[in-house]
Amino acid sequence: MSERPAPTRVVVLGGGTAGWMSAAGLAKLLGPLVTVTLVESEDIGIVGVGEATLPHIRGFVERLGIDEAEFMRATHATYKLGIDFRDFGRIGDSYVHPFGTFGEEAAGVPFHHYWLELQRRGMAEDLGHYSLAVSAALASKFRPPTADGSLTSTYGYAYQFDATLFGPFLREHATKNRGVERIEGKVVEVRQDPESGDVTTLVLESGREIAGDLFVDCSGFRSLLLGSTLGERWEDWSPWLPCDRAAALPCAHISEDFAPVTSAIAMPAGWRWRIPLQHRMGNGYVFSSQFISEDEACAVISDAVDGELLAEPRVLRFRAGRRSKSWNRNVIAVGLSSGFLEPLESTSLYLSQMAITYLIELFPVGGQIDARDRDEFNRLVDMEYDRVRDFLILHFHATERDDSEFWNHVRTMQVPDTLAEKMTLWRETGRIEKYSDGLFYDASWIAVYLGQGVWPQRHDPRTRLPAPEQIARALARLREAMIEEVAAMPGHREFLTANVQRLAAAP
Ligand SMILES: Cc1cc2nc3c(=O)[nH]c(=O)nc-3n(C[C@H](O)[C@H](O)[C@H](O)COP(=O)(O)OP(=O)(O)OC[C@H]3O[C@@H](n4cnc5c(N)ncnc54)[C@H](O)[C@@H]3O)c2cc1C
Repeated sequence: MSERPAPTRVVVLGGGTAGWMSAAGLAKLLGPLVTVTLVESEDIGIVGVGEATLPHIRGFVERLGIDEAEFMRATHATYKLGIDFRDFGRIGDSYVHPFGTFGEEAAGVPFHHYWLELQRRGMAEDLGHYSLAVSAALASKFRPPTADGSLTSTYGYAYQFDATLFGPFLREHATKNRGVERIEGKVVEVRQDPESGDVTTLVLESGREIAGDLFVDCSGFRSLLLGSTLGERWEDWSPWLPCDRAAALPCAHISEDFAPVTSAIAMPAGWRWRIPLQHRMGNGYVFSSQFISEDEACAVISDAVDGELLAEPRVLRFRAGRRSKSWNRNVIAVGLSSGFLEPLESTSLYLSQMAITYLIELFPVGGQIDARDRDEFNRLVDMEYDRVRDFLILHFHATERDDSEFWNHVRTMQVPDTLAEKMTLWRETGRIEKYSDGLFYDASWIAVYLGQGVWPQRHDPRTRLPAPEQIARALARLREAMIEEVAAMPGHREFLTANVQRLAAAP
């Protein structure tokens, strides 16, 4: 029988969301193969924004063995069925990008082709009417999906939570239940092996030294290990994603009822978010400093929010891009230290989650790093970033807006070839590029293309085999079934109160 190798000493630098997700995930899923120590400095603090997530986060919370209701109560979370986009294609337009599908394919032809055929004949209702997630979101209703293959299993959900509470919740969990050691202190020196260049030790202001075999850099935008120490190159994507600031501010709810969605409302120099939490509304103006000053953006967002202001706007600065490699030598960057893509599709925590998942799958058990594993990790992380990048750029580029310099810039800019090819395929055939890894599949692309007025020149000719009336009847039946399902769902607030807040009331 082979002996278990000595545990790999993992040192996580940073106690933001990425740091605590990494520490909790590695400790739980690698168990005795690792010891995990996390260093954080309360003086430096965390970014502390990032309220909206994707459905994948549920799997992460579940794999950690955390009870959903307990987690939602602790982080003041609400449910999210998608993102409600306003004014992106044209001022006055709106559409929901749902966590779910539109209709069903029939005779091997995807639903949206039938919808396009009826649309051409003036016989279709709005595309969102054929998505249960959209229909429920617009009615401010919520119920978790089923897994029985029926209509009620055609959507997923995510959470919207208070970002300042998620890290501390994971910290409590990781230190109490998973044996993670937390060390408070500021890292002032990073020692490297003179021969290999591997990081060996972090030295704190107090003089304390923390040695490790593997270092997970979660130091945020500073990227202390991967960027500053190892000098990993930064790939700048700001020519395509020019937003580089956000002015965030919370306000009170104006109504007891709120929809289970994140709102993204286009603005003259970017867009603003509106995220309902249990106790308040999160807001922020994501803007490009090339087109509006910080002071102006703060004034605009303060005027735009609809509830009583609960704080002054807080400005955050960032840039779009990523490090060329997220894993270099024995340093793996997770979170903002590896890259950042603006929060339009709530993808940052997903990117952290995937980096942690890939690291666990390719983990150098016993401490010996295999270059093939490192390369594979970097390939997978790059793929994830590239997919998100193209999808985000689409939201800005696919517009008819010409009412501000910002929109003129993004409408007319040259986009990456990978996106240009996807858009050409769509425009010429109504088809979505197929892939089976990373984020954003057909329904997501269809929602944004059609929601922002990018119409294909043709669609699948097989949609003309059935009589149009027959297709119209099938769609009408689907619509009726959706109306019935939505009518039977509880309100979002009602469901939250019953299933999450009841824990708060428990003795
Ligand atoms: C405007 C904005 C909106 C966002 N919205 C979303 C969203 O809706 N959804 C989403 O998924 N994501 C969103 N994000 C991203 C999300 O906030 C981050 O991915 C997440 O907070 C992870 O941050 P982090 O842990 O990498 O970095 P940070 O929160 O910055 O944490 C860095 C940590 O490193 C520590 N540290 C740094 N240097 C040292 C040192 N020398 N010694 C010791 N400790 C050190 C700090 O103390 C801190 O603990 C948003 C980001 C921004 C800027």
